[in-house]
Amino acid sequence: MKHFLFLLGALCSTATLVGQTDTQLYDIINNISAKRIQNDVTTLANFGTRHTLSDTISETRGIGAARRWIKSEFDKIASECNNCLEVFYQKDLVKKGENSRITKDVMVVNVAAIQRGTKYPNRFIIMSGDIDSRVSDPNDYTSDAPGANDNATGMAGAMEAARVLSKYQFENSIVYLGLSGEEQGLFGGKGFAAYTKEHNWEIIGVMNNDMIGNITGVDGVVSNRDFRIFSEPVPPTETEEQRRARRFYGGEVDGISRQLARYIHKTTKTYMPEMNPIMVYRLDRFGRGGHHRPFNDAGYAGIRIMEAHENYTQQHQDIRTENGIAYGDVLEHVDFEYVKKLTAVNAINLAAMAWAPPAPKTVEIGGIVEPSAKLKWSKVEGATGYKIYWRATTSPTWDHYTYVGNKTEFTLDGIVIDNFFFGVAAIGANGHESPVVFPNAVFR
Ligand SMILES: [Zn+2]
Repeated sequence: MKHFLFLLGALCSTATLVGQTDTQLYDIINNISAKRIQNDVTTLANFGTRHTLSDTISETRGIGAARRWIKSEFDKIASECNNCLEVFYQKDLVKKGENSRITKDVMVVNVAAIQRGTKYPNRFIIMSGDIDSRVSDPNDYTSDAPGANDNATGMAGAMEAARVLSKYQFENSIVYLGLSGEEQGLFGGKGFAAYTKEHNWEIIGVMNNDMIGNITGVDGVVSNRDFRIFSEPVPPTETEEQRRARRFYGGEVDGISRQLARYIHKTTKTYMPEMNPIMVYRLDRFGRGGHHRPFNDAGYAGIRIMEAHENYTQQHQDIRTENGIAYGDVLEHVDFEYVKKLTAVNAINLAAMAWAPPAPKTVEIGGIVEPSAKLKWSKVEGATGYKIYWRATTSPTWDHYTYVGNKTEFTLDGIVIDNFFFGVAAIGANGHESPVVFPNAVFR
């Protein structure tokens, strides 16, 4: 079946489609610049502190100066692509005492840049990083907190992805997003998720980048190829009825965020086979948080992309030397070639999803006490075909698929429903595909 798409590519005379890969994605990888990322991380670190409660008046220090600079960079990118980015601040007032880390009223300000899709302008794939930083005391908003890795790297990655992807046009909209208030209680993500609800955005997924620049772990492991994709198992918004259905039909490890994680894992393995994406089956690190969570809370697919080997002496620390250990989140500890790689991981996934048709809304599965599993799905406007995926119940990845063409039902002869998990993805004429949809209904 792998050969079918190859043939399809040839028949459609889509020059860029070679087999199952799109050469444009290799160009995107090559165009991401470690040098530009280094410049941006350096500029961000040099604002002294970007603490959410820090100075907003100064032009050189504090989060106000930082966000104005980020906006000006997005504006500059827009001016070089015929104003292809809609750049704006999204803000919410957070009142003193909202939690113990909000010691005064503060305007939590995010910076967003939308690259509007040509065919599905109201469908959005989001890449986020954080603007804010902190030191040892989360409420200290005056000490130097360069936040070079946490999280100038994620922010710089989103800006660099915008520079490279703004040279292309996409069918779906892409959002490059700088969030604030992360260290004070995930306020920026909460505010932006609420904004998208108010404006009835359809969210394909959120790729939150938080610390994508450290390659030397506190345990001594060094790797510039490993990285983690954190995803929660099922949405926290699921109903009691859905929870009950999972018990009988499965889906414990197949929520929408997990499908997004698998998509990123697969795209990375296909286009950047030298990388080692590690899917972690949990919302985030043990007991710790990140800005994808407020989007998950709103019912959206969202994952965290992160270095695999953290160094705790270099995050959330006052800059100092103690017992011969240099503490602090400073520029010297960031590996910019590694940030470039993880930025490329984001960029190819943004592009692939933004070029793909929407996923089928409903996928039904049948075949109870029968020799073959059957699937039916809702037709997707803009899709030219569909893939049925399946895998052993213990496998983390969609290991098997068949391309079934432009149909809305299919029987997998001799594949017994009990022994596998199944899903369906929509494919566009350009070969790009939607995330896989796990069946959300059963038929007999
Ligand atoms: Zn942090």
